[in-house]
Amino acid sequence: MALVTTKEMFSKAYNGGYAVGAFNVDNIDIMQGVLNAAVKTQSPIIIAVSGGALKYMHPAYVRYAALAASEECDIPIALHLDHGKSVELCKQCVDNGFTSVMIDASAYDFETNIAMTREVVEYAHKRGVVVEGELGAIAGIEDDVVVDDKYGSFTHPDDAVEFVHRTGIDSLAIAIGTAHGAYKFKPGQKPQLRFDILEEISAKLPEFPIVLHGASSVPKDRLDTFNSYGGQMPEAIGIPEDMLRKAASMSVCKINVGSDIRICYFGELRKMFALKPTKFEGREFLEPARAAVEEMVTDKIVNIMGSAHKA
Ligand SMILES: [Zn+2]
Repeated sequence: MALVTTKEMFSKAYNGGYAVGAFNVDNIDIMQGVLNAAVKTQSPIIIAVSGGALKYMHPAYVRYAALAASEECDIPIALHLDHGKSVELCKQCVDNGFTSVMIDASAYDFETNIAMTREVVEYAHKRGVVVEGELGAIAGIEDDVVVDDKYGSFTHPDDAVEFVHRTGIDSLAIAIGTAHGAYKFKPGQKPQLRFDILEEISAKLPEFPIVLHGASSVPKDRLDTFNSYGGQMPEAIGIPEDMLRKAASMSVCKINVGSDIRICYFGELRKMFALKPTKFEGREFLEPARAAVEEMVTDKIVNIMGSAHKA
């Protein structure tokens, strides 16, 4: 099967009450771990590559690895640029075989965000590539949010409608309480997602795919492995899985997972290094780490995304 855009994936997910996972990959091993899980569960999948990961892996390697996967795996695979911070980077990825790009101009003012996003949409759509935009600040724990009205710093539904219509984007990342990184909440703070805002946005944008960023759940077993073998991330807290599952059943068609992949992969590597001090054959370490990614992604596809057997 060739690499595909997310268009059909999202319309099926919207109507089927599930989401498609977008998993951040930093190397080919992680990419294979993610793909193995998708094949095993017969799920559509989005391979997400950030600007930093693209630079590290090199665009041609990313492109051909994804093409190889699409030849080998009989499931729909989209190759997606995560958080493209410039119009130029998005165009480069469109030219480099990506089937989907995200332009993240959410740090700019509303009009600048619209102008930059619109430019990427015009370029991408002409070439058969879909575009994700972002509106609203997806917080990190360092941001102390002062809520002065019902929407606070979250995405305002009316802005979302105007943004979608004026840019022509294919999907929209919104801020409803998720956060990037492994420290989404302060210890003792109760994780909350604003489903009321999500519902309002969906009511004003029927059939339109919504994207959830910062949606790692920080599984306890993976974090324990990471911390048991020298890692030091004691206070990491993620989004509860039942909240993600609920979002997936609503208008959220794409759920991003980055931190969990890293905690899982590097936690397993830490463990293998500790347990096999006399080994130096790379596969002794890398195969279990790849298998751990496969196992965790399988769990997410089945229990959070709900996209198993939807390929
Ligand atoms: Zn993100």
